[in-house]
Amino acid sequence: MGKPTGFMEYERELPQDRSPLERVKDWREFHEHFSQAKLQDQGARCMDCGIPFCHTGQLISGMASGCPVNNLIPEWNDLVYRGLWQEALHRLHKTNNFPEFTGRVCPAPCEGSCVLGLNELPVTIKNIECAIIDNGFAQGWVRPQSPENRTGKKVAIIGSGPSGLACAAQLNYAGHWVTVYERADRVGGLLMYGIPNMKLDKAIVQRRADLISAEGVKFVTNAAVGHDISAAKLKDEFDAIVLCCGATKARDLPIPGRELDGIHFAMDFLHANTKSLLDSNHKDGRYISAKDKHVIVVGGGDTGTDCVGTSMRHGCKSLTQVEILPRPPDARQPDNPWPEWPKVYKLDYGQEEAKARFGADPRVYLTTGEKFVGDSDGRVKELHVYDVEWGKNEQGAFIPKRVPGSEKILRADLVLLAMGFVGPEETVLAQLGVERDPRSNAKADYGEFSTNVPGVFAAGDCRRGQSLVVWAINEGRGAARECDRFLMGATELT
Ligand SMILES: Cc1cc2nc3c(=O)[nH]c(=O)nc-3n(C[C@H](O)[C@H](O)[C@H](O)COP(=O)(O)OP(=O)(O)OC[C@H]3O[C@@H](n4cnc5c(N)ncnc54)[C@H](O)[C@@H]3O)c2cc1C
Ligand code: SF4
Repeated sequence: MGKPTGFMEYERELPQDRSPLERVKDWREFHEHFSQAKLQDQGARCMDCGIPFCHTGQLISGMASGCPVNNLIPEWNDLVYRGLWQEALHRLHKTNNFPEFTGRVCPAPCEGSCVLGLNELPVTIKNIECAIIDNGFAQGWVRPQSPENRTGKKVAIIGSGPSGLACAAQLNYAGHWVTVYERADRVGGLLMYGIPNMKLDKAIVQRRADLISAEGVKFVTNAAVGHDISAAKLKDEFDAIVLCCGATKARDLPIPGRELDGIHFAMDFLHANTKSLLDSNHKDGRYISAKDKHVIVVGGGDTGTDCVGTSMRHGCKSLTQVEILPRPPDARQPDNPWPEWPKVYKLDYGQEEAKARFGADPRVYLTTGEKFVGDSDGRVKELHVYDVEWGKNEQGAFIPKRVPGSEKILRADLVLLAMGFVGPEETVLAQLGVERDPRSNAKADYGEFSTNVPGVFAAGDCRRGQSLVVWAINEGRGAARECDRFLMGATELT
């Protein structure tokens, strides 16, 4: 702890984001950056706690509390305070393969459990993490590191999202020959084609993919395993397989009128938008445009927020975000104490932009859809909704109940369904004979990551269900460790 009085001298400070009305005019990242001197002051706020809850990564009440990859947070906060940036980078890379991703998109459960958060605002852990890795790249300290010896073993990884990339990097460090199969035309999974460019610049994703490639990992894109290549063939050709194929089956809204034109899954909207942006700066027109449309986003989570931010940049005419859950409280409630993840109201970037443009947070809570109504050409023009209140059914489970007389009609030219994901697709798992758990994910215990098929492992969203980038990195590393143990009888991977 470099400065014992740091937390008393300096207040929590973050760089001001670009203004909402300015940033919706382009697709560049909206976060700004602090000078190193400012970051050193923020690092000095860390108390180097005897029990640093920030790096525990425990599940409490089903939510992550502390960093799921167990980042050595107090150590690098102190190193940043002392201006030892290269040493800080070394500590950061020990536990996290991709801090440039988590430093940008992680909801930061570390900050929710920071001890300083008990009576002050927490340390700006995420911002410091991002600065350490960005500075590392800028200084040229992040270079490809290939293994000295090769084991001769071959591993296939299916899917190139954060779990697949972390798994590939780790297995490659252990000396195995790794091939990653990805059905999209670019590597990165939801880092590339889910999270939009203004939140995570795609050049940053590509930079890491290029680095891993230079370290010796082979990427095969436009290769849908189970369709273009059979999973059984991979099983014959490789010594082990790691499934990192994500939870890509979207939850639908099966109400009357669902078949009308203009109603899309969020991922179809987001994927096409980023692909067109990267391919042609949107000149090819191969995306679903929200321009001059009344847009309704169904679902109030991260995916919904990204649909809001994307629609704002297209220039939508109006925006409503429908959420079935209640508005979270402004401050922690007694049943949600520190160090649990704080379930509190937040104006995320997309809603902030909609509020700046249209005057109010676009979310309407405790509301659900009843039916879509179309025009004579079969295009959606309205979503009929009603209010709900949550109560218990006879079995004691919470269910939404209709509030009589609360029916409303919302104008809709474009509807984006962002209600989460229900699990991985069947084909690859079925071809390999991998068992599913009751939620239809690949069945493999956390910590072991092995499926019922010897030599086949599973990690990330396809094992745990739709989650976070940081958990995908954690699981990719864990599956690599267990795969290495399976191949070699012992492992030094952590
Ligand atoms: C729109 C959106 C925004 C999000 N925002 C955030 C955020 O801000 N912060 C955060 O922490 N988390 C966020 N998440 C969640 C996070 O992105 C995921 O938890 C994480 O990417 C999961 O990583 P993964 O590697 O398990 O799977 P994915 O990232 O889903 O990658 C799986 C990959 O497997 C490929 N694949 C699937 N089947 C096959 C096959 N048969 N053959 C070849 N390839 C295949 C897919 O094309 C995909 O590229 C968001 C999710 C979405 C949908
Ligand atoms: S809990 Fe907060 S103050 Fe304590 S070591 Fe972690 S970052 Fe520093």
